[in-house]
Amino acid sequence: MLIKILLTIVLAIVVGNFVGESRGIFGISFYSIFSFGGQLFLQALTLLVVPLVMSALVSGLSQLGGNSSFGRLGLKTIGFYVFTISLAVLTGVFFFNIIHPTPISLGQHIAVEQVNQIAVVSPGEAFSKLLLKLIPSNIVYAAAEGNMLGIIFFSLIFGYAIAKVGGQSGNLLTQFWQAIFQTMMKIAEIIMKILPLGVFCLVAKVVASGGMQSIQGLGYFILTVVLALGFFIFGLLPLLLKCFGISPVEHLKKMMPALITAFSTSSSAASLPVTMECVEGLGVSRRICGFVIPLGTSLNMAGSALYECVAALFIAQSFGVEMTIGYQILIAVLSLITSMGITGIPSASLVAIIIILNTMGVPAEGIALVIPVDRLLDMCRTTANVYSDATCATLVAHMEGEALFNKRALAT
Ligand code: ASP
Repeated sequence: MLIKILLTIVLAIVVGNFVGESRGIFGISFYSIFSFGGQLFLQALTLLVVPLVMSALVSGLSQLGGNSSFGRLGLKTIGFYVFTISLAVLTGVFFFNIIHPTPISLGQHIAVEQVNQIAVVSPGEAFSKLLLKLIPSNIVYAAAEGNMLGIIFFSLIFGYAIAKVGGQSGNLLTQFWQAIFQTMMKIAEIIMKILPLGVFCLVAKVVASGGMQSIQGLGYFILTVVLALGFFIFGLLPLLLKCFGISPVEHLKKMMPALITAFSTSSSAASLPVTMECVEGLGVSRRICGFVIPLGTSLNMAGSALYECVAALFIAQSFGVEMTIGYQILIAVLSLITSMGITGIPSASLVAIIIILNTMGVPAEGIALVIPVDRLLDMCRTTANVYSDATCATLVAHMEGEALFNKRALAT
C-alpha cells in the first residue's frame, strides 16, 4: 500500500507538471478532471467525520464515564497534547533563529484584496466565538456546519450521561453507538481502497495549478518551516516514542497512509477516518483511539502551532520588529493557544496568524506575505498535526498497558 501511494505521488507530480491548467481531452481540461476527482474523494472522507467522531466519543465515554479511568485518560491525553504542541513551537522558534529567514520587501508582496477575504477579529472576540462554538444551541445545526468542537462537547456529555444512566437503557445505548462506530470504521476501510486514486487527483491538481511555483522570494521562509516540521515529525516524535520503548520505524511505516492522506488533503479532519484505521492497526484499542484521535483533530494542532509561530515571527520581522527573546516567547505562547482554537480544515492557520499579529500590534496585512505559499506549507503542517495525534494516542495506549504492534485491536 505504502509503495503504491508513494509512486502515486511521484506520478501525480509528473503528470500535473506536464498537463498544467490548459491541456485537456475532448474539450475538458485535465485540471478540472483532477479537481473533480479530488473533490469527490474529499467529500467521501468528510462524509464520515461527524458520525465517526460522535460514535467514537459516545461509545468510548459511555464505557469509561462511569469510572475513574475517564479522568485519568483525559488528563494524560491533554497532557500529551500540551507537551507536543510546546515541543513544536519551541522547534519553530529554534529553526527561526538558526536560519533567520530573510525579511522580504513588503510593498511587492502585500495585495490588500487577498487580506480582505479573511475576517479580522480581536483575540477577545475570537475567544468568545470559541466558547459559543463549544456549546451549540442546536446539535443538528452544529453537525451540518461541521462545528467539531460543539460535536465533541455534546458527544462527551452524551456518553457520560449514558454511563450514569446505566442499567438496561444504558447498555442498549452503548451497544447502539458501538455498532455505529464499527460500521463507520468499516466504511473507512472501504474508502482506504480508493486512497491512491484520491491522492493522485489532489496532488496532480495542486501541481497542475502551479501551486508549487509561487515560492520566489520566500525560499528561506519555506526552508525554515519545512526543516522545523521535518525535524518535529522525523526527529522529535520518533525520539518521544523511543523513550517509551516503542519502535519509531515500525510506527511511522504503519502511519504512512494517514500521513499521505493528510499531506494531500491539507485537512486533519478529512484525514480522520484514515488516521483512526492506521492507529487501530498499531494495536491501539478502540477505547483509546476513539477518544484521543477525534479530540486531537480539534485540539492537538502541533504542526499548525509551529507554522503560526514561524509565520508570525517572519511577518513581524519583515515589519522591522526587533526579535527579542521575550517577543519570541510571547508569539510562541500565543501560537500554542490559538492553534487549539482552529479546526482541521485547509488554511485554518491563517486566521490564527491574524489574531497573533493583531495581539502583537503588527499590521494584519502582513499575512499576505505568506499566502502565496500557504497551500504548500499547509500540506506539511497537516501531516505534522496528524502524526502528533497518532503519537499521543500510541503513548496513552502504552501508558494504559496496551500491547502495541501485535495484532489489530478488537472492539472493546
Ligand atoms: N490544514 C490544517 C489541518 O487541517 C490546519 C491549518 O493549519 O491550517 O490540520
